[in-house]
Amino acid sequence: MNNKQPIDIEFDKNHIWHPYTSMTKPLPVYPVSHAEENFIYLQSGEKLTDGMASWWSAIHGYNHPRLNEAVTKQLAKMSHIMFGGLTHEPAVELCKLLVAMTPEPLQKVFLADSGSVSVEVAIKMALQYWLSQGVKGKSKLMTPNKGYHGDTFAAMSVCDPVNSMHSMYQGFLPQHVFVPAPQSGFFEHFDENEAHTLRDYFVRHHHEVAAFIVEPIVQNAGGMNFYHPDYLKTVRTLCDEFNILLICDEIATGFGRTGTLFAVEHANINPDIMCIGKALTGGYMTLSATLTTNKIAIGISEGEAGVLMHGPTFMGNPLACAVACASIELLQANNWQNQVAVLNKTLNDSLLPCQALESVINVRVLGAIGVVEVSHCVDVALIQQRFIEYGVWIRPFGRLIYLMPPYISTPDDIKQLGQAIFDVLTQYPEVLKRE
Ligand SMILES: *Cc1c(COP(=O)(O)O)cnc(C)c1O
Repeated sequence: MNNKQPIDIEFDKNHIWHPYTSMTKPLPVYPVSHAEENFIYLQSGEKLTDGMASWWSAIHGYNHPRLNEAVTKQLAKMSHIMFGGLTHEPAVELCKLLVAMTPEPLQKVFLADSGSVSVEVAIKMALQYWLSQGVKGKSKLMTPNKGYHGDTFAAMSVCDPVNSMHSMYQGFLPQHVFVPAPQSGFFEHFDENEAHTLRDYFVRHHHEVAAFIVEPIVQNAGGMNFYHPDYLKTVRTLCDEFNILLICDEIATGFGRTGTLFAVEHANINPDIMCIGKALTGGYMTLSATLTTNKIAIGISEGEAGVLMHGPTFMGNPLACAVACASIELLQANNWQNQVAVLNKTLNDSLLPCQALESVINVRVLGAIGVVEVSHCVDVALIQQRFIEYGVWIRPFGRLIYLMPPYISTPDDIKQLGQAIFDVLTQYPEVLKRE
């Protein structure tokens, strides 16, 4: 399995951009030779227990025989074919599964190529819907602070205005309406003042707002904030009252991660438009989907344009659709409810000791997500190196050390991840930038 040739790390450093890094002062990158189950094997010989599921996506782990089989079977038929004027079994089967498993009103599926693109499509759907209805002036979006919806321009324009790249791109980004981020925690009481504040924003801005876009229950990249379902319920009620569409971005939370199949189920609400991605293909390749209701799809189609103005080259990629079908079948076969429940308990048990540390502000767990919030920003390069010495793959950002492991992780794997966080924080205080 191991590559014979060492990876040309110098070329990588000099020529290849990695996520959110500098081309002159890149953070270190570690060459991977292969990955298997929930373990990552570095070319240097280390075996790392994965705590990240490759950013929420590899829920069944790596190199899974059933997922491999789905890809190779499809590969023998065709890896890709244009979706304009043609269709194929993997796309049809996948959309059948998605329509069946997502909230009942969501009946129409748009297959896109990445999470950010599915957000772009969702925004287009909302704008085109109101245009088709002859409703003028609804050209803005409303969204909570501390959100994250992707890196393309429309998606970026609804990310947190302080922590994202808003100031850098001032003049390029459309100005939207930002409302206060959810405050009441998932396990706390809901503060009714939040509902009153939201209402004020809806009263003042509804005439110019096409849609409210939100990550249901977990604001992830904006702070790993687990918020109260009543916030989402309130937003749903206000959207109905003020004629605003609700877009729920389930790209991170979908497919069981928060303990329900989709996070909207915690609040028992239905969105008008929903984005899914990340775990959709079990982390095998890039694919996303935007789902909407009959009402919106028909509205758009009967409007002036008559069509939804979007159509990526690799739309409905058969390989990606085939592996997505297999991943969804595995979710059921593996009894994901039980997998996530066990992870929830072991994450709670394993991260609890961190709560006692002076450098730790808060430890929180929801579904199969565990967060250790520390007092100072983490030195990513330094802490990563220590984690590798402890045999784990964890990649923190800001003041957040967080875990969203593959669902197949055993209690012992989770124990190892929790112990590594505890040990690194106690033995290497320099991993936090205490200025
Ligand atoms: C990751 C993510 C996106 C962007 O998806 P990409 O596939 O990286 O474009 C959008 N919204 C949420 C909530 C995400 O977690």
